[in-house]
Amino acid sequence: MKQAVKVKEGDSVAARLLGWYDRHARVLPWRARPGEKADPYAVWLSEIMLQQTTVATVGPYFMRFLARWPRVGDLAAAPVEEVMKEWAGLGYYSRARNLHACAIAVVRDHGGVFPDDEEGLRTLPGIGPYTAAAITAIAFGKHAVVVDGNVERVVARLFALDEPLPAVKPEIRARAATITPLRRAGDFAQAMMDLGATLCSPKRPSCMICPLEASCEARAQGTQETYPRRAAKKARPVRRGACFFLTRPDGAVLLRRRPNKGLLGGMMEVPTGEWGADTLSDEALLLSAPAPVAWRRVPGLVEHTFTHFHLELAVFTGGRRRGRQRRPMASGPHGRNWPARHCRP
Ligand code: SF4
Repeated sequence: MKQAVKVKEGDSVAARLLGWYDRHARVLPWRARPGEKADPYAVWLSEIMLQQTTVATVGPYFMRFLARWPRVGDLAAAPVEEVMKEWAGLGYYSRARNLHACAIAVVRDHGGVFPDDEEGLRTLPGIGPYTAAAITAIAFGKHAVVVDGNVERVVARLFALDEPLPAVKPEIRARAATITPLRRAGDFAQAMMDLGATLCSPKRPSCMICPLEASCEARAQGTQETYPRRAAKKARPVRRGACFFLTRPDGAVLLRRRPNKGLLGGMMEVPTGEWGADTLSDEALLLSAPAPVAWRRVPGLVEHTFTHFHLELAVFTGGRRRGRQRRPMASGPHGRNWPARHCRP
């Protein structure tokens, strides 16, 4: 039978965690220092950037965005292409498009001031339940239950929740609600995130120095590394295709913009052909080539793993044109044809 989590009066999980946070909080560029008021714009920007991305990666992007667009109105007034360009490399590009749409909505519908509750925040583009709760707690200090991946791990261990992810998420949230204090909800949320990012790591958590050790059921059982439980992963499908790198004698590279919706929406790319499960011959791959020039296959493959499939691309480089010139058209990965653009390197 499971042990009950030991939460004593005056020595609650929240009290111990907040005491630890007061001594060990990470210094992060978007985080208000003790005594400072949090900036909702900075909190929102960081939370959108941190979705699916690490703190170390986000840091420089956050600083560049804030330097270039210091207030939400500045970001709203920026051309979306500039925002996308500044975002390049952070991945999950629909976030950048939503970021810009959200800034516009805050200026247009809320006088440039972010709503200060979850309900209001969730009406804005790109703000889901997690982000709304995080902004409510961290930017406005209001009570909200904030559960990100780090918090999921801590709570699953603290209560030794045996059901695997993602089915266990509602229970994790319910358990998180039982330990979230009414006061200092923002600090508590950030403390849970910090604990998950530092001591309660996925492998070899530092339980000996954890402020919650005495309350942690998984630690008591010696099974902490087995939480959160995960259902067996399905193998990712592999998609294969080709991409075409074509340069002009002046060094310009042939690029095109992907459709706004879908994978890497709105991003510039070298043209690629269809992506399918089959391994095709070079002759078949070249049927998607964007221009009638002499193509040369580069040895090897470019590989990238997306969340839902693995991609393998053959690379062809284009040389001098054969025959008559015509405006190049490229067949896209979703069967669309796009006019080609030229871009200086
Ligand atoms: S005692 Fe260990 S497993 Fe439990 S919350 Fe702390 S670091 Fe995580």
